[in-house]
Amino acid sequence: MRGKLEAMTPSGPLVTIIGGGFAGSECAWQLSRRGHRARLHEMRPRVSTAAHETADLAEMVCSNSFRSDNPFNAVGLLKREMEALDSLVVACARQTRVPAGDALAVDRRAFSTLSECVLPRFDLTRLPLRHETRLRPLLRGEARIEPP
Ligand SMILES: Cc1cc2nc3c(=O)[nH]c(=O)nc-3n(C[C@H](O)[C@H](O)[C@H](O)COP(=O)(O)OP(=O)(O)OC[C@H]3O[C@@H](n4cnc5c(N)ncnc54)[C@H](O)[C@@H]3O)c2cc1C
Repeated sequence: MRGKLEAMTPSGPLVTIIGGGFAGSECAWQLSRRGHRARLHEMRPRVSTAAHETADLAEMVCSNSFRSDNPFNAVGLLKREMEALDSLVVACARQTRVPAGDALAVDRRAFSTLSECVLPRFDLTRLPLRHETRLRPLLRGEARIEPP
């Protein structure tokens, strides 16, 4: 995996991330790369969604396109900006790319598999089969997730 930042020894507060989709996986990656401790709670496969089909982190649902890769439009420029920040999602997309004209399209299964392979290298704890049911209290600050 390309990258400007090296993995660092985890330190500082433990950050709990609920949901290992694109957002959660990217968040875990960015935190871990900067030496923070990150713990990902992902409910699949114990509980799934109408859109997801696998237990993979960063599963891409439905189509296989991240839309245009042209840096002269907004979505293409966003990809360049994410790459400047060493985005996991964009790096995995580039490595699993399939031909689709202007679009950045990927082999979906290879994309998720690559994300799964990269994330644990960065001292990330994935709690298996965890369905976090306290989202509302957590968001309201009325509950907290205790460290191990
Ligand atoms: C039908 C459909 C088609 C789409 N097609 C495309 C496309 O072609 N290209 C594209 O770029 N985007 C597409 N998207 C959008 C894409 O799915 C989202 O942009 C992307 O998945 C959003 O990432 P996310 O991390 O925010 O959410 P998600 O990918 O949904 O991730 C959320 C994660 O949180 C987990 N989770 C939820 N609740 C809990 C809980 N209580 N406890 C523990 N874990 C939990 C879920 O299992 C899931 O893994 C599509 C979306 C849909 C619905």
